[in-house]
Amino acid sequence: MYYIDPHIHMVSRTTDDYETLAKMGCVAISEPAFWAGFDRGSVDGFRDYFHQLTEVEPKRAAAYGIQHFTWLCINAKEAENVSLSRDVLKIIPEFLDCPNVLGIGEIGLNKNTPNEATIFQEHMQLAVEHDQQVLIHTPHLEDKYQGTRMILDMLADHTSMERTRILVDHVEEHTVRHVLDAGYWAGITLYPVSKCTPARAVDIIERAGKEGSRRLCVNSAGDWGPSKPTAVPDLILEMRRRGHSESFIRKIVFDNPRTFFRQSKHFDLLDPATRNEG
Ligand SMILES: [Zn+2]
Repeated sequence: MYYIDPHIHMVSRTTDDYETLAKMGCVAISEPAFWAGFDRGSVDGFRDYFHQLTEVEPKRAAAYGIQHFTWLCINAKEAENVSLSRDVLKIIPEFLDCPNVLGIGEIGLNKNTPNEATIFQEHMQLAVEHDQQVLIHTPHLEDKYQGTRMILDMLADHTSMERTRILVDHVEEHTVRHVLDAGYWAGITLYPVSKCTPARAVDIIERAGKEGSRRLCVNSAGDWGPSKPTAVPDLILEMRRRGHSESFIRKIVFDNPRTFFRQSKHFDLLDPATRNEG
């Protein structure tokens, strides 16, 4: 089955991973800007990273027939440094016209601090000014519920942006309803250990029902740490095991991310069924 991984950090992965993803049916990925595993020392470090995301990575992906899209920001962890964050916010517009940029992300909160909240709001302002979609990271474990509430409260200030242009990621059982009921898209991240397994993700999808699952996406969030870039095919397998129809599975792993991304003027996905014909 063709699928899209809407959240994966391919700069941290090998070409072997691209090859495996392609063989498993992955036709497109979207890569949000995130924390590199260390704090970058200057705005030039971010300029190089944005260059990598907009020029280098799409070529690596194309070698395996995968379309590469990206989102730009300074992540919540480094947003603790407000002056560096403001320098990074100033250079982001230089890259917004690059053909694979879908919007601003993954912004959000890490430890739910006032500095993180300040920079979150400044990113939202930038997104509104430049008519960009937004992809949002919610904090992990014990900080998730409070962080998600804080994010939803802050988003409520931005009435000029349609809620269907915002995806709140890494939802779990206790946060998904808040996100969907408020009218946003929600992302479920599959982790190989400890967090959301394919079985838990399918439980969440089933509980969301027909209406809720219209705005649900599933991703691997594969990065430089323990993670599994092929986690979306694991979900496909789990859904088949439970007897879900092929069309419903396709909706979750392909149609839904495509519907969300299509709101960006740069999202132009070739139809995988006909891309090599004529
Ligand atoms: Zn991420």
